[in-house]
Amino acid sequence: MPFVNIRRANPGAASQRVAVSTHNASLLARSVAAVWHPCTQMKQHETLPLVPIARGNGVWLHDFDGRRYLDAISSWWVNLFGHGNPRINAALVAQLGELEHVILAGFTHEPVVELSERLSALTGGRLGHCFYGSDGASAIEIALKMSFHFWRNSGRPEKTGFISLVNSYHGETLGALSVTDVALFKDTYAPLLRQSAQVPSPDWRLAQKGETPHACAGRCAQSLERHLEQHHAETAAFIVEPLVQGATGMAMYDAEYLRRARALCDRYQVHLIADEIMTGCGRSGTFFAHEQAGITPDFLCLSKGITGGYLPLSVVLTTDAVYAAFYDDNVARGFLHSHSYTGNALACRAALATLDIFRQDEVIEANKAKAAYLSRAAQPIARHPRVRNFRNTGMIWAFDVDANSPAFARKFCQAALERELLLRPIGNTVYFMPPYVITEDEIELLVARTLDILNCV
Ligand SMILES: *Cc1c(COP(=O)(O)O)cnc(C)c1O
Repeated sequence: MPFVNIRRANPGAASQRVAVSTHNASLLARSVAAVWHPCTQMKQHETLPLVPIARGNGVWLHDFDGRRYLDAISSWWVNLFGHGNPRINAALVAQLGELEHVILAGFTHEPVVELSERLSALTGGRLGHCFYGSDGASAIEIALKMSFHFWRNSGRPEKTGFISLVNSYHGETLGALSVTDVALFKDTYAPLLRQSAQVPSPDWRLAQKGETPHACAGRCAQSLERHLEQHHAETAAFIVEPLVQGATGMAMYDAEYLRRARALCDRYQVHLIADEIMTGCGRSGTFFAHEQAGITPDFLCLSKGITGGYLPLSVVLTTDAVYAAFYDDNVARGFLHSHSYTGNALACRAALATLDIFRQDEVIEANKAKAAYLSRAAQPIARHPRVRNFRNTGMIWAFDVDANSPAFARKFCQAALERELLLRPIGNTVYFMPPYVITEDEIELLVARTLDILNCV
């Protein structure tokens, strides 16, 4: 869904306004002519202009016209510590003076080694082997291929199937799309995709009457159990977004489901892949969402926030057992998968600077107070007559709005831009996923203007 740019008179000097506005307008025209924008029906840009961004600072994005937008969705869920973060900037400048990139096959470098060690330590050493990709979807491809190849190397080549949850999202390359359950993204490409199985989502909004989220999780785990009972022999892995299913509307569920899924995967010899591309790096309230269930997955996929929202980087962490199954004199038993920018030094340095901030600022602890503040401030939204299912996990808030218009999301987005907010509802679900550096004043502004939109869209 494209954004809408609303121009207001610039309070600045008239002469300057004309010059700057011309820059805005010409950038939009050049962009539409030359750039094919993601997840967009480009024809809609005939009536809905793009939003040009000149620079970013903290939670704010600025255009060339003196207009600004509070980035309440962290630029598609990637930003953690604000735009133009001085500490990440400094780390990148320092790295530029040393090494920008080197092939990671046959070579290695300090940032990739240190990042691997520190990520492994964050899993308590249980996931001690890091394989790198560039985007989230490439991490999913890696995890799926690695799981299948593990079973093949272990004398179980018939384990080729994958299971995911109803309403799951794991990215949009062909393999990742095969385990994604979003009709709008998937149906067109169905002839190109491999079959995968979907089991019921423990989303507590789908609970039966009188059922608690915990009981709902237990019931859905029984469905998973029935599926595994029948199909475990030909199943390689169960892939899941821990605690929050993001792209299909911030569905939240009880950690009990992950505990049960872990036990079932162990019992039926099926890998558990945790797709923490969105929930990882503190977004769920703990550094990894799966920690809240007290479990360890066999594969952990990270991307998005891992570089603080600076550079594309993804990583799949896995166990000694998986690693050992590939370690052999036979080349073909190795994991012969690569991306040109695997382990890029600049991206790894941005990730290290991000981890430094987590440690120095005790971010997980500090976010608890910030989350409590936002949840309290948002009570008028939760109580609004049009709002249902107000929910929160860590630094993610979402609510569903009673609205009949199929254009609700677009209208809401447009009204938000008019009020200096970057919000992109998913269907009738509005969500906040702000950078962790958002201040109390900015939280108040976000809530007050969201209420204002609810009263007029
Ligand atoms: C965003 C996302 C992906 C895909 O990551 P890209 O970098 O967009 O390819 C996969 N899984 C989840 C849970 C995501 O939120």
